[in-house]
Amino acid sequence: MSRVLVTGGAGFLGSHLCDRLLRDGHDVLCVDNFFTGSKSNVAHLRSHPSFELLRHDVTFPLYVEVDRIYNLACPASPVHYQHDPVQTTKTSVHGAINMLGLAKRVQARILQASTSEVYGDPEIHPQTEDYWGKVNPIGIRSCYDEGKRCAETLFFDYHRQHGLDIKVVRIFNTYGPRMHPNDGRVVSNFIVQALRGEDITLYGDGSQTRSFCYVDDLIEAMVRMMDTAAGLTGPINIGNPREFTIRELAERVLALVGGTSQLVYRPLPSDDPRQRQPDITQARAVLGWEPRIGLDDGLRETIAYFRRLLGR
Ligand code: NAD
Ligand code: UDP
Repeated sequence: MSRVLVTGGAGFLGSHLCDRLLRDGHDVLCVDNFFTGSKSNVAHLRSHPSFELLRHDVTFPLYVEVDRIYNLACPASPVHYQHDPVQTTKTSVHGAINMLGLAKRVQARILQASTSEVYGDPEIHPQTEDYWGKVNPIGIRSCYDEGKRCAETLFFDYHRQHGLDIKVVRIFNTYGPRMHPNDGRVVSNFIVQALRGEDITLYGDGSQTRSFCYVDDLIEAMVRMMDTAAGLTGPINIGNPREFTIRELAERVLALVGGTSQLVYRPLPSDDPRQRQPDITQARAVLGWEPRIGLDDGLRETIAYFRRLLGR
């Protein structure tokens, strides 16, 4: 069993990954600066003998001894990553440099949590890994998109130049318990609004599409990718290929929560991608993986979590 570093480990995905790695018998070092993550996401792990929590910002170097690194540190919701865009780029780029430097020093395998945002507002549909993307370099999403793209560049240059054992996964919209209730992402927004009986805010006309993956499916794919043979670098898409319009999502959430919320329309933020759906042919072939949890089942779990959190 190995010593595993999870950066961003107190966030939504990171905390589920820590759970899974501990279940698999690993020693887990969770590193987080608590910008969008919180101690409460990992509070249940604090007495676990194989779990350690360290407050640290990945834009500064880190000296630890580990065998594997999952690099997840980075705010993921548009509201949060646009709050301090310079820090967002630094987190992706300096964070990648620091974690790659650490991996090189201790000869660790390192996995990057990249994103479907590297495809920008895509011209091909569904998106395959060989598509280079259509990304605005100077827009309000660029700090995140270009930061993640540069991080991928760094990963592949460390691999070519220093022989580093890298893995890159491109994650498509993922949801589930422990999403931040105010992080502005669509699934948490709609559920919280429905539970509070507030209006459900559709940006634009709600005809843009996303493909939503439940967190447990996503973590399974990430762990499988980390365990693939050396040399299998990716990038590899992971996500649920079932595509929905945002209006369909709102209607499903409303049907499952019940209540009296109305659908209301708000301006579409700039550079908001029109459509997004992963082609997961590679993930199926290489990881023997595909998502198992459908939207309604995943939403029920997520709604139950927010009911407990909000006391509704
Ligand atoms: P999240 O915001 O819940 O988690 C990010 C974590 O990183 C938080 O705990 C935050 O405090 C921490 N963090 C931020 N900046 C940091 C820094 N400088 N140093 C140390 N820690 C820092 O978001 P998430 O959804 O769990 O996303 C995790 C990763 O997966 C991110 O890298 C994100 O880009 C990627 N991703 C997520 C999705 C998704 O739909 N959830 C999709 C694509 C990619
Ligand atoms: N969205 C929406 N209402 C909200 C929040 C988001 O209609 O209250 C839309 C948003 O404009 C986008 C989609 O939902 O088209 C997904 O947004 P999210 O921020 O979850 O993720 P991303 O745009 O990064 O895929």
